[in-house]
Amino acid sequence: MHSVDATTERMIRSVLAYAENRLRLDPVPLDKGERDPAELDLALAGLLGEQGHDPDQVLGAWAALLAPAVISADSPRFLGFIPAAPTKASLLFDMLVSCASIQGISWLEAAGAIHAENQVLRLIADKAGLPPGAGGCFVSGGSAGNLSALAVAREQAKSAGPRPPHQRWRVVVGTDAHSSVASTLRLLEMDALVVPSAEHRLTGRQVLDAVAADGDPGSIAAVVATAGTTNAGIIDDLAGLAAAARELGAWLHVDGAYGGAGLFAPSIRDRYAGIEHADSFVVDPHKWLFAPYDCAALLYREPALARSVHRQQAGYLEVIHGDPREWNPTDYAYHLTRRARGLPLWFSLCVHGTAAYAEAIESALELATHTAAEISSRDYLELICEPQLSVVLFRRRGWRAGDYYRWSEDLLDRQVAFMPPTSWEGETVARFAFLHPQTPVSLVRAILDDMAEP
Ligand SMILES: *Cc1c(COP(=O)(O)O)cnc(C)c1O
Repeated sequence: MHSVDATTERMIRSVLAYAENRLRLDPVPLDKGERDPAELDLALAGLLGEQGHDPDQVLGAWAALLAPAVISADSPRFLGFIPAAPTKASLLFDMLVSCASIQGISWLEAAGAIHAENQVLRLIADKAGLPPGAGGCFVSGGSAGNLSALAVAREQAKSAGPRPPHQRWRVVVGTDAHSSVASTLRLLEMDALVVPSAEHRLTGRQVLDAVAADGDPGSIAAVVATAGTTNAGIIDDLAGLAAAARELGAWLHVDGAYGGAGLFAPSIRDRYAGIEHADSFVVDPHKWLFAPYDCAALLYREPALARSVHRQQAGYLEVIHGDPREWNPTDYAYHLTRRARGLPLWFSLCVHGTAAYAEAIESALELATHTAAEISSRDYLELICEPQLSVVLFRRRGWRAGDYYRWSEDLLDRQVAFMPPTSWEGETVARFAFLHPQTPVSLVRAILDDMAEP
């Protein structure tokens, strides 16, 4: 299994040929094949057992049966949830990271990889206006980042003074905060103080009023700001929330998993004013910074606080903690072993330059603006709110929930687009989530025209 023999040679050729063909798809088609687990089991019968198989046979099963049952999130027709649009450069380098088994645990083992990752983290910190001492690591996603950051916030609150017995720490969140924040609070045994946000945008005033009305300001460990919301792309009042957090003596965490990439777009940079005050900040390059899955940048204003919470102690690990100048990414989140998942982004940024990233992000913003205008110009459609980022919410007059679902399934069956409906203030509505720079406005028009049919 570990030597290079004739079978390995054949396998290298066929797997690389497959990867090459996939890389050359331009554009990537959507795909959606058999999804019934019983049918898939039947098709794969006997493949996984005590005896091995010819690699081309196994690859053939992947290519013919399994791959088509995966919707390509990197297709310009993937307009649901939050899509992906990794650059070809980042995909290629991801393959290299795998083939070279590059990890990014400790400086002792992986200084070169970590140095490159840290340059990217520094670039993101600069875009956010975080101080020179800021730093962190790449984790698997926004959920992992939120959990790691709020664990530090909780320990920070504890160190400032204990809670009365049986009383838990609380975290201020808006009603539109991401679902992973609620999971995080459950895991960390903290409670949410949910602040209803007018027009889905959390402000400092709303937070201070809610805390005053609630009467236990000493329980607030952190304030979570969203930049911007996943469902609608709305950026909270970051400056106001920073001031409120300061007044409460609480940690400010900014969840920019989806929208944080907008920091690279000059046309909307001012909407992030106040982000420079964040104690921790998360942005997912696997979303709108065009990196492969899975990759989230997690930054702390004072990384030493995170290190004191997340560093793992073990006899066999003492050797990596000998020199305080050495940066160990493992110390800044709940993980130990980690793939150097920031490297594909580093490579692609170096190849293309940051200006190309700004341009690609701006193109999705422009598409959202065009789309809003197209919607407003059709009398059978209604725009729900002007897009701030690259998400557009709208309704089809006269449709009920079932109509949206049927239409969306049909759109996928015809391979036009993947565009599941969402829920807005209790109502089922249609939602575009753009980020692929190659999604053409002609596709948007075709989709909107399609909705004219009763
Ligand atoms: C996507 C998203 C998350 C979760 O990120 P994962 O990478 O899916 O774990 C958290 N917060 C926001 C605002 C998001 O959009």
